[in-house]
Amino acid sequence: MTHAGRFIGSAEEPAGTAVALFGAPFDGTTSFVPGTRFGPHRIREVSDGIETYSPRLDRDLESISFYDWGDLELPYGNPVAALERIEDFAHSLFDAGRTPFMLGGEHLVTLPAVRAARAAFPELVVVQFDAHADLREDYMGEPDSHATVMRRVVDLVGGDRLFQVGIRSGTREEFQYGRRHTNFFPGAFDMATMYRIAEAVAGRPVYITVDIDVVDPAFAPGTGTPEAGGWTPNELFEAIYALAGIDVIGCDIVEVCPPAEHGVITSLLAAKLVREMLLTFADGP
Ligand code: MN
Ligand code: MN
Repeated sequence: MTHAGRFIGSAEEPAGTAVALFGAPFDGTTSFVPGTRFGPHRIREVSDGIETYSPRLDRDLESISFYDWGDLELPYGNPVAALERIEDFAHSLFDAGRTPFMLGGEHLVTLPAVRAARAAFPELVVVQFDAHADLREDYMGEPDSHATVMRRVVDLVGGDRLFQVGIRSGTREEFQYGRRHTNFFPGAFDMATMYRIAEAVAGRPVYITVDIDVVDPAFAPGTGTPEAGGWTPNELFEAIYALAGIDVIGCDIVEVCPPAEHGVITSLLAAKLVREMLLTFADGP
């Protein structure tokens, strides 16, 4: 692991902490703008610019039991080995009773994390926030890619255990597949949909994956494949708050791509999202 300062509010030592924040700086299959490998480092760096206290939740990171483990060291040129490394680390966290909170990296890093989550929680359900369906059977001949990752998740857990929200881009085949096989909620933000999902996953072990491009590029331009017509940051926050009380056993935020923007708008949004997700889902006062 490499450290470059920890996320704000992180414990000094891992001992006794429940949530394990870590970076998976992998962008080996990125098709448009590469650079999500720099996401975790930048999110951590800009986290110094936000408060540990959430007025909306009236909770503070200082009272949450989490530790920032730094970034995994991944071989960029070897996707198979990189994904194995992520899966092994996630396994070790689940074995220790910890809740992984992964920072990508491109969306493919979700696959090994979900593999490890499913091994620990066979009844696992997955909730995906994304502009893209990511349901291609293959992408340019490759079965494992940021554009196929949710299809691989369906192969793993079954379409009835995947909930997809915010989707506004994909092929006709992906949309047909989603409508037939997954819990598919494309398009604009809608609070009623979020409450429906919260009800459907209540009491079940849930893995949440947030592809930052679910947010409109006006608010989150720093991402690998921006897609116009998206959610506002507040809509995404409200969507997360709507899921309060569900049993989140793991989560991630992916596709933050610092080289794709001038400035830190997207990284700052991601840092606040980390805080709000930690404070919404982690145990503590
Ligand atoms: Mn995605
Ligand atoms: Mn996406």
